[in-house]
Amino acid sequence: MTEIDSRALRDLPLEELIACHECDLLMRREHVEPGLKSICPRCGYELEVHRRDMVRRALALVVTALLLYVPANFLPIMDITILGQTGVDTVWSGVQGLYNSNMEGVGILVFLCSMVIPLLKLLCQLLVLLSLRFNIAQRQGMLLYRTYQHLREWGMLEVYLMGILVSIVKLIAMAELHVGLGLACFVALLFTQVLLEVTMSRHQVWDELSTEDGDARD
Ligand SMILES: [Zn+2]
Repeated sequence: MTEIDSRALRDLPLEELIACHECDLLMRREHVEPGLKSICPRCGYELEVHRRDMVRRALALVVTALLLYVPANFLPIMDITILGQTGVDTVWSGVQGLYNSNMEGVGILVFLCSMVIPLLKLLCQLLVLLSLRFNIAQRQGMLLYRTYQHLREWGMLEVYLMGILVSIVKLIAMAELHVGLGLACFVALLFTQVLLEVTMSRHQVWDELSTEDGDARD
């Protein structure tokens, strides 16, 4: 970047600047048209994307995820038959099993990371989207979206799914396993959450939450 460019950037107000998340290149923020995205000229990282019908599509996904949440946690993940005894395992029974096996700390951690925080994340997203959809309580919407950003690091459904897959591979040699409907719902929940994360373009959500008159609604 030349000295002239640096000076020109220094004179711009903060809201007209954008820094690349990957390589820290500071640039003038360009307006992104619906359906288009801007990328960093240095490293190619996606800076901003403006999705069409973002709020409506994300609302459909968040409601789907909330509907999947209950069967994913309370329907059997798998049936295990070992030495003639059959047991049915759900996420919730796994948490209870850990807690009752003198591993209260691990049980509480699994309960928080696999059940409580994913639910709180979905509720935060739902309320943020409702705030955008109906153009109400933007201040609270911003607070909830900030909370969601902090919770993202603690919801570990992917790690939990990896654990389930590893246990299936380990147990398959020594027991008879039947995968349950809960696992299908769990995988569907995970994919819905990933899709939701991609659909809720972060810059777009922040922009719309900070638009007082709400003229950027879908
Ligand atoms: Zn970059």
